Amino acid sequence: MIDPFGRHISYLRVSVTDRCDFRCVYCMAEDMTFLPKAELLTLEEMDRLCSAFVQKGVRKLRLTGGEPLVRKNVMWLIRRLSRHLESGALDELTLTTNGSQLGKYAAELAACGVKRVNVSIDTLDPHKFTAITRWGKLGPVLDSIKAANEAGIRVKINTVALKGVNDDEAFDLIDWCAREGYDITFIEVMPMGDIGGENRLDQYLPISLLRAKLKTRYTLDEIDYRTGGPARYVRIAETGQRVGFITPLTHNFCESCNRVRLTCTGMLYMCLGQDDSADLRAPLRASDDDALLMEAIDEAISRKPKGHDFIIDRRHKGPAVQRHMSVTGG
Ligand code: SAM
Ligand code: SF4
Repeated sequence: MIDPFGRHISYLRVSVTDRCDFRCVYCMAEDMTFLPKAELLTLEEMDRLCSAFVQKGVRKLRLTGGEPLVRKNVMWLIRRLSRHLESGALDELTLTTNGSQLGKYAAELAACGVKRVNVSIDTLDPHKFTAITRWGKLGPVLDSIKAANEAGIRVKINTVALKGVNDDEAFDLIDWCAREGYDITFIEVMPMGDIGGENRLDQYLPISLLRAKLKTRYTLDEIDYRTGGPARYVRIAETGQRVGFITPLTHNFCESCNRVRLTCTGMLYMCLGQDDSADLRAPLRASDDDALLMEAIDEAISRKPKGHDFIIDRRHKGPAVQRHMSVTGG
């Protein structure tokens, strides 16, 4: 799949559910309304859709959400999809998770060929953790990360940089990751979806400020390492550790974008930061043959936009796109 700007699309991110057992302050309002269950694709339909993308050249699949591991029977889908790893059609099957259920599934995930997972942790302070996630507890998440590691799964930590909340913890988080052998990526908060009374401008911490802070203690060497995503990496000369930065607001890397995103209702979003989408559920359900679906995928890719226009400042406090990150996955 090649889009109008010559970019090869080889990465599909799938939000398997919009539901979650946490309510992170930058992601959802506490009284978030979720989709009626009847609107969701079945796991069989998700398998068919993902498999169509694999046939079209997708080499990397990431399950996300909402919290992917709270979807009932999600392991059935992961087991099914693992056949594409075995056949060599897929290079990587992975997930992004809040870690609450990861310990329970770690061994089975490893057996399905999952080699890496991203776990989101914004703080190592248990009280702050519960304040940020509203419903989460840090202890079980840390236990899950250990369990995943012991099962042979590499863990990357994702940390959303939050002004006045975790900016004082950057060194602690980096030191902890260095000790445990985890990579870490810091993410700028993005203006997606209504989050109730919270104000994005209050949350927004430009990663450039965080980098400047890290430089007061460490030497940051720019490196060429890429995972095909928007993160740019440095190596900390003193610890040898790799640290990533995702800076959609201060910098965007749309020119090398290789991904599209599927929601749990079968809508394909060609860009995280734009509203244009394609309904793949209708062609999927219209016939058992994949011809219509394949046509709809081609048509969608031909509409992939050049980039997003995220902006957070005093004049733009509301969401740039109405849907939440949990709908299209982070
Ligand atoms: N529940 C899983 C988790 O938290 O890892 C997967 C879905 S979550 C939407 C994926 C990632 O998006 C998480 O790392 C989360 O911190 C991040 N995220 C959510 N809302 C965001 C926002 N408005 N701006 C930046 N990152 C956000
Ligand atoms: Fe749930 Fe992940 Fe959103 Fe937090 S960031 S509310 S864990 S989907």
